[in-house]
Amino acid sequence: MSIAENVAAIRAKMDEAALRCGRDPKDILLCAATKMNGAEAVRQAIAAGVDCCGENRVQELTQKLSENAYEGAPVHFIGHLQTNKVRQVVGKVSLIHSVDSLRLAAAIDKEAGRQGIVQDVLLEVNVAGEASKGGLSEEALWQLLPEISTFSHIRVLGLMAIPPVCENPGDNDKFFQKMCRIAVDITAKKYDNVCVNILSMGMSGDYEAAIKSGSTMIRVGTAIFGMRDYTKAHQP
Ligand SMILES: *Cc1c(COP(=O)(O)O)cnc(C)c1O
Repeated sequence: MSIAENVAAIRAKMDEAALRCGRDPKDILLCAATKMNGAEAVRQAIAAGVDCCGENRVQELTQKLSENAYEGAPVHFIGHLQTNKVRQVVGKVSLIHSVDSLRLAAAIDKEAGRQGIVQDVLLEVNVAGEASKGGLSEEALWQLLPEISTFSHIRVLGLMAIPPVCENPGDNDKFFQKMCRIAVDITAKKYDNVCVNILSMGMSGDYEAAIKSGSTMIRVGTAIFGMRDYTKAHQP
């Protein structure tokens, strides 16, 4: 199947999943996870109507920006971001999904201040408590929120999560639902510069379940572009 056919098939499933639980399909955005796919594949995905592109690695982002690969769609940063690389990302992407420490938030705030902009971000939650993954524990999230709300060059628009790879449909429902509960609790606290309009969750294997549990942005790679060829991966 072509990228265009894959995107059309995903859209149809997204719409169905939304309507099945009484949601408006327009409230759920499709972010193409473009890692390890080149500018031409990215252009095809944008032509097929994805809402935005999500890049994982700073090097790939910089390369594809220089090739004007994202023309026609916003680009987001969805991978782990090292503090020493914020300058290459802040102001270049419309949303950073992966803020997972006060140190990183402070570095983004400082760089955005230097550029005279406000950078939109999501806070990444390690919702399944996996030692192998980044993201804030729920406890760390609650510690970070009052601090990040004092930063004037960061605006928090929501939360992101990468739950475990799911073996059976429904495996991750409890994690998606937990994210939803956390979002409601944050909204109730009314922090400055913090709202939770975006819940970035759901990938190729579980996006329909994520939509059922309140996701407003799914990040899909494999189901759009096919299997990634890791033998060609650049070592960081
Ligand atoms: C690669 C990636 C995705 C997409 O994963 P697929 O299973 O290929 O759909 C989503 N989010 C992040 C952060 C990723 O790195």
